[in-house]
Amino acid sequence: MADFYDLLGVGRDADADTLKKAYRRLARQYHPDINKEAGAEERFKEIGRAYEVLGDPQKRARYDQFGEAGLGGSAGMPDMGDMGGFADLFETFFSGFGGASSGGQRSQRRGPQQGDDLRYDLSIDFDQAVFGQEREIKIPHLETCEICTGSGSKPGTGPSNCSTCGGAGQVRRATRTPFGSFTQVAECPSCSGSGQIIANPCSSCSGKGVKQVRKKLRINIPPGVDTGTRLRVSGEGNAGILGGPSGDLYVFLKVKNHPRLRREGLNIHSEVNVSYLQAILGDTIEVDTVDGPKTLEIPIGTQPNAVLTLENQGIPKLGNPVARGDHCILLKISLPTRLSEDEKSLLEKLAAHHSAKGLQHHHHKSGLFSRLFGVNE
Ligand SMILES: [Zn+2]
Ligand SMILES: [Zn+2]
Repeated sequence: MADFYDLLGVGRDADADTLKKAYRRLARQYHPDINKEAGAEERFKEIGRAYEVLGDPQKRARYDQFGEAGLGGSAGMPDMGDMGGFADLFETFFSGFGGASSGGQRSQRRGPQQGDDLRYDLSIDFDQAVFGQEREIKIPHLETCEICTGSGSKPGTGPSNCSTCGGAGQVRRATRTPFGSFTQVAECPSCSGSGQIIANPCSSCSGKGVKQVRKKLRINIPPGVDTGTRLRVSGEGNAGILGGPSGDLYVFLKVKNHPRLRREGLNIHSEVNVSYLQAILGDTIEVDTVDGPKTLEIPIGTQPNAVLTLENQGIPKLGNPVARGDHCILLKISLPTRLSEDEKSLLEKLAAHHSAKGLQHHHHKSGLFSRLFGVNE
């Protein structure tokens, strides 16, 4: 089997445009309606097959890695690629000749097809996003029918060759154009291009070979995910057709808001209310963190809207959960709106003391006063 790159006369690093140009040029050159030399038709088919693979990034990647064997399934059905090549050629031809209609619809690709990728949106709690969690979800997807193992035919029966196209999947008809007569190839209307007719459809899947089912899946949510994080669950998308590989499932996460905690990158922000006395005199309080209640030291003389930081109590880094952000706590200081008689007289005493401060440097007795205002007794 010739190397596909050699067939198209391009290097292994050729980009999509180069491939397309090479293919168009060679397809015109070897088209059996134009080139009557022996072997031209064979060559034309090979070129079509090569372009069908190299023109598709996924197939090209598999070919690069594994050669023809990596293309799966196609080895036993060498005609499949040619069909795609034909359809493509006709598009190319007619658009190149002034846009005359190519007649036949571009046929659906036959043979094994990869299943679709699926998206599933999942809402999770703030804490689950921080620490990760194993979750069970139920996803609707297509699975290969277990009764007919994906063939679509009733067990014990098989598909038969389509009588309209004789199994080729295509019908040809001559079309006259201003540039001469071309044989036009169109998808067979009887078998939709598969070349086969399912005479006895599997009753479980109505001949489709796949069935819609809801599957339970356990998914592992790693620590540190955020809204918009996408988890890929390999092979849990829709089943492939005729033995093609399954697609993948992508779980899109949305993290619910926390009533008191707010996230900003790897840091968590929250607020706490303390009294003016706690702010002035200092205190030790308990605050809520994602790790549970933690002790927070309020220093003497803390100002309104000061931000205190609990290091390493933030969000773990996705993929490296040992590294964590901080928990930043904004201090709201509340002032009393009414005072008892006792409180009032104490505060008045303090106020008098304060206003006398400028005159009586040497008379301070209050340890509080010196700590607050840095006056040495
Ligand atoms: Zn079935
Ligand atoms: Zn047919």
